[in-house]
Amino acid sequence: MVIYLDYAATSPMPADVQAEYAQALHLVGNPSSIHQAGQQARNLIENARAVIAGYVGVEPMEVSFTSGGTESINTWIKGRVFAHRKARPGEDVFIALTRAEHHASLDAVEWLDASGFATPLWIDVDSDAVMDLAHLDAQLSAVPAGSVAGLTTLVANNEVGSLQPLSEIAAIAREHSVPVHLDAVQGFGSIPLSLSELGVDAMSISAHKLGGPVGVGALVVSRAASPLDSLIHGGGQQVSRSGTLDAAGAVAFSHAAMSTFERSPSEREQRRGLRDALIDGLGVLEGVSVRGSSNRLDNNVHITMEGASGEVALYLLDAEGIYVSTGSACQAGVAESSHVVSAMGLGDQAARSALRFTLGYATTQAEITRVLEVFPSVLERARVAGYPS
Ligand code: PLP
Repeated sequence: MVIYLDYAATSPMPADVQAEYAQALHLVGNPSSIHQAGQQARNLIENARAVIAGYVGVEPMEVSFTSGGTESINTWIKGRVFAHRKARPGEDVFIALTRAEHHASLDAVEWLDASGFATPLWIDVDSDAVMDLAHLDAQLSAVPAGSVAGLTTLVANNEVGSLQPLSEIAAIAREHSVPVHLDAVQGFGSIPLSLSELGVDAMSISAHKLGGPVGVGALVVSRAASPLDSLIHGGGQQVSRSGTLDAAGAVAFSHAAMSTFERSPSEREQRRGLRDALIDGLGVLEGVSVRGSSNRLDNNVHITMEGASGEVALYLLDAEGIYVSTGSACQAGVAESSHVVSAMGLGDQAARSALRFTLGYATTQAEITRVLEVFPSVLERARVAGYPS
């Protein structure tokens, strides 16, 4: 039995989304062409844009399709810093974030810092990787008013699953007139997210986390938001992002979103039940700690293991046909110690021992039962194997 428990890395594409995607791929037109084939492709794009807009509480024109979460996040962070620098030439510029963000944010900000474009304003997280609101307020108060180009925050931590207090973060940022961007790559589809209701400026989302294709995402930017400089110049097909639009990708993204959002409450309840069964079953094992807040994504289970390497446990599970991640799934296939667990203040040993299980629409009770059967022996063997050098 092959058991896929790495939905947060990428989700399998449901059959109905595959069918819509394949059908849209038959269409030839460039959505910017004036002939009928082009206009058909344009209609597909605009329908998809309206669907996505509806799920994030904005107007369709506020949604720009991108190549995924990484591009969307980079576009907002760098575009915001460049626009801010133009508006305040010669002044110091800060960008606020925690050390538990996804690498798409961390590395973009570290590049801005190394290139002399902006200085990171680091906000602490607690031992569940949840942003420390008092520290956020203190850090925004500690720099000159108007010097912070923006604040970026995860909606839900991609490793440990903790949900962030978005309304509170947005309220504090508003008091300091700091624009807010949400990395909603994990969270979109799991929890209600409305840009207008939250009162934030922008949001990045990605199709492949909900069963759409890899290489398709969106940057949602409120019309009322602070300006962004474009990073990708060309035909001006979309605000902040030039390039021929991918009609089939947009169609598949919108169908993946529909199939996710329209899943029944009982189906969601069932998945939460499976998540909790896994949490309970792993949490009772000696030396295993379940990490992250109890206010967490409904598909995420994260543990650290005393005396065992996450990487070794991952390979042992892999040999049993069980696919999980150490948490740092986006590190080019290299299992590293978890920067999130380090940011939580849990030390190096814990950071090297992290394992993340993420469930999805096809996860079954039989799969969870099998994981719980196999795991004690995997843990024992991982402890004997020790740590890879
Ligand atoms: N942000 C978070 C929270 C993620 O989990 C990921 C991917 O794992 C990304 C950003 C990057 O998204 P993409 O793979 O679409 O570039």
